[in-house]
Amino acid sequence: MLEGLVIDHVGIAVKSIEKALQLWNVGLGAKTGHRELVESQKVTVAFLETGEGKTELLEPTEADSPIAKFIEKKGEGIHHIAYRTPHLEDTMARLKKNGARLIYDTPQPGSHGTQINFVHPGSAGGVLIELVEYPTREELS
Ligand code: ZN
Repeated sequence: MLEGLVIDHVGIAVKSIEKALQLWNVGLGAKTGHRELVESQKVTVAFLETGEGKTELLEPTEADSPIAKFIEKKGEGIHHIAYRTPHLEDTMARLKKNGARLIYDTPQPGSHGTQINFVHPGSAGGVLIELVEYPTREELS
């Protein structure tokens, strides 16, 4: 059964991770963890260690990146909230059955070797929801 929903991270769209880290690291004292290029989303991400719910800074790497388009339209700011799911495809099937719109038909590769998808804001009260499934131990080895 479902074990409830846990926030994995909050995603914030920024023009420059380096510039944003002045506030997050130096000003607010957040520790920077993992940094990674996520090619499927055309972004570089930097994770801040802000407890169990992390903070993800996303900087576009291409002009046609979804994050570049977001910044162009709305400016820098909160882009999505990500929740962990133990089985992404089951969750996707359940959401579709309930009439929710998903951004992708199949899971996409995210950072940390995860599989991800998004629930369209039009189906989620204006919030872009990311779903994250972490690899199991067997898949990592
Ligand atoms: Zn994210």
